[in-house]
Amino acid sequence: MLHSFEGRRSKSIRRCQLSTMPVPMILATIFWLACGCAAWMTPLVMTIPQRHRQIVLGYHSHPSNDESSQVEQKSTAFPSSVETKPPSEKATLKELVRSVNYFISRKCNYSCKFCFHTQKTTHHLTLEQARLGLALLQQAGTEKINFAGGEPFLHPKLLGELCRISSEEFGLAVSIISNGSLITQEWMQTYGRYVDVLGVSIDSFNDATNAAIGRGETSIAAGTSDSLLPTVKNKHVDRILQVREWCRQEDIIFKVNTVVCSLNWQEDMSKEIQQLDPQRWKVFQVLLLEDENVGEAAMRDARPLVVSDDQFQEFLRRHEHLPQLIPEPNDVMQNSYLLLDEDMRFLDCSGGGKVPGESILKVGVCHALLQAGFDHGMFQQRGGVYNWKRQRDSNEPSKVANG
Ligand code: SF4
Repeated sequence: MLHSFEGRRSKSIRRCQLSTMPVPMILATIFWLACGCAAWMTPLVMTIPQRHRQIVLGYHSHPSNDESSQVEQKSTAFPSSVETKPPSEKATLKELVRSVNYFISRKCNYSCKFCFHTQKTTHHLTLEQARLGLALLQQAGTEKINFAGGEPFLHPKLLGELCRISSEEFGLAVSIISNGSLITQEWMQTYGRYVDVLGVSIDSFNDATNAAIGRGETSIAAGTSDSLLPTVKNKHVDRILQVREWCRQEDIIFKVNTVVCSLNWQEDMSKEIQQLDPQRWKVFQVLLLEDENVGEAAMRDARPLVVSDDQFQEFLRRHEHLPQLIPEPNDVMQNSYLLLDEDMRFLDCSGGGKVPGESILKVGVCHALLQAGFDHGMFQQRGGVYNWKRQRDSNEPSKVANG
């Protein structure tokens, strides 16, 4: 199965060069553009193409359920720019897809109460399917891929190979967001060289708070003579300290993500964050998303964990002296990330839920992008582009710079 898929991949990645096409093919392409594109171009106002970009679109069967159906292929030209939010701003496809987040699976070993990407499914793509998606993204202009979940280290081999392929074959900067619990030294020694940024989630340095949030495995011991209260031991912080050390050893840029909720907004994390010394410390606010952590179909009810804007601001003020702090309140975060789910479908959060479009493996990147609800202006405003490549010594595999 893997070999046959690889064969299809190479067939599907063909460049459309109008200038060298025979006349019938040009006529067929014009017909296709007139009939096929009109339907999907309507949601966004697009400028008239100034020139044909050589963009490759792969059209494939649904990636997860129907591997046996035939892979089709089509190529087209992408308009030179697309109007994004705010409407006055224009961006090329390459600028739009510069940084993409791929949730390889929704499976997770933690059960954080505010989680907004819950375990509604447990499958993931095969390595070859994901490789094809990465190829399409790279062709479209992606420079950085962030692997997340669920917990991506539940699939250590798949994750490692995806990192290797992204870095070695496609020259992408590679980032991972993990809860940190399943990272091993062996994995870091094998695949760490392909990783530029490793971000871990930590919302508190207090064991009882982590246990209450649902992060980490918790053991509760009986009270001692000093206190009759039981002692809560949660291993999350110890694991994060270990991962920090491995990142130092492997020269991987270390990053921390924190979600501010009703259980931690009063905490002062300054000392511990200074000790961890991440390059970036992203601080989010609990976000309610329909069918993820609120609503009848949701696996969580995160409403008790919501914090007000004032509480969130108070948390930020307490930590504003830390140079790594990057605040991302809900209005900044919600639509400023390009999110691909486990089937490589962009998720549109703009309506207050997470609505999947069609897979990039089925309709190509630029068509799928129109269903992403992506706010490129906000992506730029929040500093979505940063120095995401680590320093490498000359003995390590080199990476192709991508602009
Ligand atoms: S927030 Fe992250 S670590 Fe927590 S349950 Fe969700 S995916 Fe897992």
